[in-house]
Amino acid sequence: MAKRIQFARTGGSEVLEFVDVTPADPASGEVRVRNEAVGLNFIDIYFRTGLYPVPGLPSGLGTEGAGVVDAVGEGVSHLKEGDRVAYAQGPLGAYGEFHVLPADKVVVLPNAITSETAAASMLKGLTVQYLLRQACPLEGGETILWHAAAGGVGSIACQWARALGVKLIGTVSSPEKAELAKANGAWATIDYTREDVVERVRELTNGEMCDVVYDSVGKDTWVTSLDCLKSRSLMVSFGNASGPVEGVNLGILNQKGSLFVTRPSLNGYADSRERLEMMCRDLFDMLGSGKVTVDIGQRFALADAGKAQDALAGRKTTGSTILLP
Ligand code: NDP
Repeated sequence: MAKRIQFARTGGSEVLEFVDVTPADPASGEVRVRNEAVGLNFIDIYFRTGLYPVPGLPSGLGTEGAGVVDAVGEGVSHLKEGDRVAYAQGPLGAYGEFHVLPADKVVVLPNAITSETAAASMLKGLTVQYLLRQACPLEGGETILWHAAAGGVGSIACQWARALGVKLIGTVSSPEKAELAKANGAWATIDYTREDVVERVRELTNGEMCDVVYDSVGKDTWVTSLDCLKSRSLMVSFGNASGPVEGVNLGILNQKGSLFVTRPSLNGYADSRERLEMMCRDLFDMLGSGKVTVDIGQRFALADAGKAQDALAGRKTTGSTILLP
């Protein structure tokens, strides 16, 4: 038997159960990974609460982890038992000692990247890869606004932006988080609990405003984010930490300066094996070169996944959080 987290109904963190299961054998095209570390992500909370529909209940949870290939299904040629691997996509169920998933979602890790680092950076780092390098390919010299700059995705974004020569203005909710974002390479920070974000962006940019805004907070920050943009520039809305953006009248994009808006996801960018490998190469190069280091702010036992999710939803975490089976 093996341990995993599952939930039979959507709701608060109390719906998460720590149960014994018999690990499934991989079907054709699948592998089974013995997780050494599991990544905690905000999207896990969206599934648990029902904001994102769950394919069927009871269900496992989590899509990010790293460990060792433990069994290989028929027809899988690029992986073998014993390979050190990581993944950030595929069916829910990463919160467990074992996870069975399609082999084409699984990549072999370079020796220098530990399972803990991989579990803390695959989903978040690949997200930053597509946001900075694909959704709007930045060349250096741009000024961008990034909400939740001291969080998991934000901490990687600060470092990657610095490496690209992009001026990242990060929003945060405390002086400690501001310090962390600065240490990670944010060009400037705004504590939105004390400062007016639009006015501070105006001051910091000498009235020019931002080339791109990256907004994962959603409902609470939508209008503020649009107000921080230059005319004809891009709003990237990529998350719902405060709730989803709903009921938008597209006319607002006209009123705020002929703006563009995109609502991207990792699965929309890493939608083929070739694209996943290309994005992983870029991420692993950034990690290998030391331009991006992964800050694991919190480690929780797998059994405490509910506590970990409450800490993440309660803005009590910084950097990445991992669960240890
Ligand atoms: P974080 O570690 O960034 O945690 C979320 C942070 O958001 C909090 O620490 C808090 O920072 C800020 N926040 C602002 N308002 C709220 C609120 N009402 N409730 C909770 N937090 C709030 O999480 P992740 O790194 O896991 O994810 C960051 C975001 O990126 C999430 O919204 C997630 O859904 C999104 N995402 C999107 C992906 C995509 O492809 N579309 C992929 C991966 C992540 P502070 O205290 O400084 O305000």
